[in-house]
Amino acid sequence: MTENTSYSVSGFSGEGGFPIPTGLLIGAEWREGREGNRIDVLNPSTGETLTTIADGTVEDGIAAVDAASAAAAEWAATPPRKRATILLACYEAMVERADWLAYLISLENGKALPDARSEVMYAAEFFRWYAEEAVRINGELAMAPAGGNRIMVQYQPIGVSLLITPWNFPAAMATRKIAPALAAGCTCILKPATETPLTALAIGEILRNAGVPDGVVNIINTRKAGPVCSAILHDPRVRKLSFTGSTPVGRTLLKEAADSIISCSMELGGNAPFIVFDDADLDAAIEGAMVAKMRNGGEACTAANRFYVQEGIHDAFVEKLAARMGALKLGAGTDPATQCGAMINPKAVEKIQSLVDDAVAKGASIVLGGKPGEGPGFYYPPSVVTGIPDGAEILSDEIFGPVAAIRTFSDQEQAIAMANDTEYGLAAYVYTADLRRGLQVSERLEYGMVALNRGLVSDPAAPFGGVKQSGLGREGSHHGLIEFTEAKYIAVTW
Ligand code: NAP
Repeated sequence: MTENTSYSVSGFSGEGGFPIPTGLLIGAEWREGREGNRIDVLNPSTGETLTTIADGTVEDGIAAVDAASAAAAEWAATPPRKRATILLACYEAMVERADWLAYLISLENGKALPDARSEVMYAAEFFRWYAEEAVRINGELAMAPAGGNRIMVQYQPIGVSLLITPWNFPAAMATRKIAPALAAGCTCILKPATETPLTALAIGEILRNAGVPDGVVNIINTRKAGPVCSAILHDPRVRKLSFTGSTPVGRTLLKEAADSIISCSMELGGNAPFIVFDDADLDAAIEGAMVAKMRNGGEACTAANRFYVQEGIHDAFVEKLAARMGALKLGAGTDPATQCGAMINPKAVEKIQSLVDDAVAKGASIVLGGKPGEGPGFYYPPSVVTGIPDGAEILSDEIFGPVAAIRTFSDQEQAIAMANDTEYGLAAYVYTADLRRGLQVSERLEYGMVALNRGLVSDPAAPFGGVKQSGLGREGSHHGLIEFTEAKYIAVTW
């Protein structure tokens, strides 16, 4: 690491860690951007600038492709067991620095430390899971139906991959892509969200120290995401795009990728329904609701966005949920007492407020919160809004904040119809004591993932992803690795 690209983040002791690189990771070195510009990184809990990072240009993006491309053949030929050993070392290095990384995530993202700590463990787990998968990339062998030859299929690394990640899980969204890419034998270029680049840069340094060879992982931050990513996607050496972020940006990137017919995995926006039937265990449903709504302060693509609660249990559910949410301590992410941290930026707070105001103007009632918190810093308190009417924007837009929007339903058919009445299809939640009904409803929900009597779906060992406008492809599990391969069919006569 060169002197000018390492930096002590203000207010961050760095205990248990190392100076955080703030340059671009291209091949073997951390460098400044070609034009020498820097980007401010803010602490959402205070609104203050933490540090600055290098601003990559289109030329830097292509230099990252050069580095990834130069390293590709050797990495693809590395024995799977060696790749697995390196990935396991990455897991161990992240776990060893879990508290340090959690503090860094809280600093630049604003989320509460317990959320940040959970994210680090979830993020690290992708390295362990894919260390185990790297040695199990099996092919297929079959007799052709006509009997004349064998059909042999191998899963080969797809090639240089562009990985683009959002700010809400700065560690986990990066490792959920890097780990399967490396396990499959691909080299990559990571483009983190400009709001939360430090975690990705720190992970880059951890991976280098854990033995990831030069050029296998490259990291480029830029204020010009559109032109830089477009140039990368139009470079014929790049064969894969794995994107996590909003649906509109995903749509733009699919069009960019179409020019070079690049394979795309897209993890996009969500609008999760949380359905509670009268027969549900109320306390379990409240526990699940607290996780599905309040994990990450509601800034999760899987966050419960619309609560549909059956008439008989509605009032008790609202009362208990409001009591639990109202007891949470709002504050700076890095304060150990905080249970609900800051939102990412002032725009996020404005959006939440406009959705709440729109619902209230159309007839909804505020039971808890409903107004922004005190600054400096970007705060919105845990809030509960009931009686959400048809046509309220909060039913169709991602809230991405700690607001529970609740309405009633009378019967199962109505609950399913309301839950499916969205262009999104990422995650859904169902609470009922009747497992038969739970499974029947789960099968009819138009979502990639359903949590039945649970408030959490994410698991590195499970296929994560959405249908409809929520995306294409899956991350995690064996499915996530296959996304970084091409099936090679060899017709053999022997
Ligand atoms: P975003 O605005 O779509 O940005 C995501 C990433 O795309 C950032 O790195 C961003 O860079 C980059 N980007 C923006 N415009 C681009 C362009 N024209 N070309 C290439 N890259 C571009 O999303 P976000 O606000 O960071 O994240 C929140 C969204 O992510 C929500 O909709 C949430 O549901 C979704 N999400 C989905 C999942 C999932 O697994 N399905 C998980 C987490 C989040 P800059 O930061 O530089 O703009």
